[in-house]
Amino acid sequence: MKGTFAQAELHIIRARLHGGKLNKAHKGELHFALPVGFVFDDDKIALDPDQEVQGAVRTVFELFERESSAYAVVRRFQELGLRFPRRSYGGAWDGKLLWGRLTHSRVLGILANPSYAGTYVFGRYQACKQIGPTGEIRTQSRLMPQHEWRVVIPGHHSGYITWDQFLTNRQRLAGNRTNCEVLAGPAREGLCLLQGLLLCGICGRRLGVRYTGNGGIYPIYQCNWRHREALSRQACMNVPSKPLDDAIAERLVTAVTPLTIELALEALTSLEERDKAIAAQWRRRIERARYDVDLAERRYEAVDPANRLIASTLEKRWNDAMQRLLELEAELANFERQTLRTITAEQKRQILQLARDFPRLWTASTTAARDRKRMLRLLIQDITVVKGPEPKRLRLHIRWQGGTTETVELHLAPNRAEAVRYHDAFVARIRALAVIHDDDEIIALLNRDGLTSSTGKPFTVSMIRWIRHKHRIPGPSLPAGTFSVSQVRKRYGVSMWVVYYWIDRGLITAQRRKPGLPYAIMLTDAADHRLRNWVASSPRLTSPSPNSN
Ligand SMILES: [Zn+2]
Repeated sequence: MKGTFAQAELHIIRARLHGGKLNKAHKGELHFALPVGFVFDDDKIALDPDQEVQGAVRTVFELFERESSAYAVVRRFQELGLRFPRRSYGGAWDGKLLWGRLTHSRVLGILANPSYAGTYVFGRYQACKQIGPTGEIRTQSRLMPQHEWRVVIPGHHSGYITWDQFLTNRQRLAGNRTNCEVLAGPAREGLCLLQGLLLCGICGRRLGVRYTGNGGIYPIYQCNWRHREALSRQACMNVPSKPLDDAIAERLVTAVTPLTIELALEALTSLEERDKAIAAQWRRRIERARYDVDLAERRYEAVDPANRLIASTLEKRWNDAMQRLLELEAELANFERQTLRTITAEQKRQILQLARDFPRLWTASTTAARDRKRMLRLLIQDITVVKGPEPKRLRLHIRWQGGTTETVELHLAPNRAEAVRYHDAFVARIRALAVIHDDDEIIALLNRDGLTSSTGKPFTVSMIRWIRHKHRIPGPSLPAGTFSVSQVRKRYGVSMWVVYYWIDRGLITAQRRKPGLPYAIMLTDAADHRLRNWVASSPRLTSPSPNSN
């Protein structure tokens, strides 16, 4: 009874406090933490007298005016090596300004804060209670739309921008956001199954969804954080959503079987046992605390009221014991709420039935995308996406609810540039032709057969050269029994120019089928003898060591 009373009293006090707060806010007198660039001057909000701070804030607004994007502001700060102040709260640095990197979220926060336009606003954020996926109650602070702000006092203090500028900035920001998931409508709902579940394997942040392509119909999962903060030239990753969704869905359908569910339920039962033991421990402590309260109460009742000093000490003890009991009870309630794992036999039967039906349920066209997402979240905690080691390869590290982990390897389909590659049979044909034909002849042969490139154009020398380079196809080899210039050079230990000299003077017989193609040199026994003599007697050769191989 006393406990209930205390609770009611607390509620009244809170309500009274809140009413007072609102009254103060209506007059614009309720103080809250000021954004960077403002200070309290005798209870009034004023611009920070520190010129460096003012300059930093003004620079953000000026750059946004010019560049129209928060990302561009961050990039300019980074390029110019500028820093931005941040006020720290609590700890040894309480209230101090720390200078550091300007982040993307800071820019968004500054642009969205009406204080910078000299306007006093109360109720921009409101705390709301929500019931989480596992039944716990969460308090979240939610950004309210402008028409729901409780108190708005324009011209309350001097600002950095005008109200009109503030509105323009907000509009621009909203305009920049058109490509993001914010606008995802019901038609897009079914596309990205894993939205919110994926983590970036490079920076650890959550992957977002972005719609690309004509009309924004191709969804991709993207981690853009490093790029947005101007820390990297590229996004950490951009991966098409469909192959990822398909891979996880496939894994899910095979993973969820009556057997795995039965195992999970067994594990749950053992956790249940453990929770029961812990709860029993709690109850014993509460029992003890209750006894202490009773004892303190009886002692207080027993004391002679005339003996005031003793009475007040005993009253305090009674109060303390009471307080302790309340705390313990609250903690137990909290524990029970968090570990609500008790499952009835009937629920177990239903869950097993669901497991048996799972593949059918998952693939049924009547199952809404939202329900599939909900099922996914019940089963999977998160998935870390890691690129590599080879291109077009992804590894998905799945963390199932309950802590089990596993890795799924995924090959992505080649993108368009690679999809138009030549198939193996065609490459083999080029390889066969290249043994005896040069690139011009290959083109002529292919065009004669009416063949065209993968993009439907007639073949050119550069196309054939590229195919030969890509597949390491050598040019036409020399006719049998002939030698190349470099082979002859090595054989007699002379320079390349000496060989050309021999060819030029007719000392050796060399042929080439076309200007620009390599020579094919024929060496008869007589020619070999002649050349060896030439090398041995030539005074101009510094190292006439004949090489016989
Ligand atoms: Zn990342």
